[in-house]
Amino acid sequence: MRMEPLNLDRKGLVKLLALPDFSPIYRKADQVRAAHKGDTVQIRAIVEFSNYCRRQCRYCGLNCKNTTAERYRMTPEEILACANMAAEAGYRTLVMQSGEDPYFTPQLLGELIREIKKTGMAVTLSCGEMPYAAYAYLKSCGADRYLLKHETADPEIYARLHPCGTLENRVRCLCDLKSLGYETGSGFMIGLPGQTLETIADDLLLLEKIGCDMAGIGPFIPHPQTPLKGCPAGSIELTKRAVALARLLLPDINLPATTALGVAGGESENDIFSCGANVIMRKVTPDPYKQKYEIYPAHFEKTDIPAERAFLERRIRALGRIPL
Ligand code: SF4
Repeated sequence: MRMEPLNLDRKGLVKLLALPDFSPIYRKADQVRAAHKGDTVQIRAIVEFSNYCRRQCRYCGLNCKNTTAERYRMTPEEILACANMAAEAGYRTLVMQSGEDPYFTPQLLGELIREIKKTGMAVTLSCGEMPYAAYAYLKSCGADRYLLKHETADPEIYARLHPCGTLENRVRCLCDLKSLGYETGSGFMIGLPGQTLETIADDLLLLEKIGCDMAGIGPFIPHPQTPLKGCPAGSIELTKRAVALARLLLPDINLPATTALGVAGGESENDIFSCGANVIMRKVTPDPYKQKYEIYPAHFEKTDIPAERAFLERRIRALGRIPL
């Protein structure tokens, strides 16, 4: 049976998000994913090289007000060793993620990017807000992609949760990245206090407006050492619905099964691949740092880069998809 064309404006998205039975939309999102992205699942390595952060995002365990967080910075040698191991294990992309840590200047990041590019891997940065000139410099050093989630498209919720920044500047950064030729990734959380279905519709439409190439959509998970510690976690079902609608709105985008979804929803990390997702990231951050990169509480197994990659490849094949 053919579906009527879907209305994906703000009103239409709100109506779809609230549907009692979402299964026809999941099927449609899966078809669109297959037609536009094929059956591959891209596996990307992520190294969390510093958990120092100068910002105070109220949902994040790494915010600078959390004095219980054990801070670390990996040395350039440790980062490069980790990158080499990831390349040898078959990864084609390394995501370099950190808090906003001024120790890692654009010059230092640039040197690391140049070295990592020698492995043949693409480099994605996820290091927060920077001036245009810094993004331009990092691009000239070989950075391919940049991830910077907008987190919420509602300026009031944004202001409440981010005492150190504005939604306007966040969007300015994303537009700068896009104009510099980065593959630009944004994303948002489901379940932030004060969020409504209208907010989620606005989040999806902001991805479209920016022209994002990638979007990480995951559930909010409360961290016990943050001001949001007593708030309920975001809904897994609503997260999956938002991912499916992102696929319909932006058919060519890369949509990861976010780590937060895997942590909060267990098997949902598998399900999400039938809802429109086509990317997964795996931490290659060495022990003991891995457990200390705690945006939200989670338990991670000991790092074994080749074994984890092989395991993930088997899981993806078992879903009838092709690991890349
Ligand atoms: S979300 Fe990012 S910028 Fe905000 S406190 Fe956490 S690590 Fe820092």
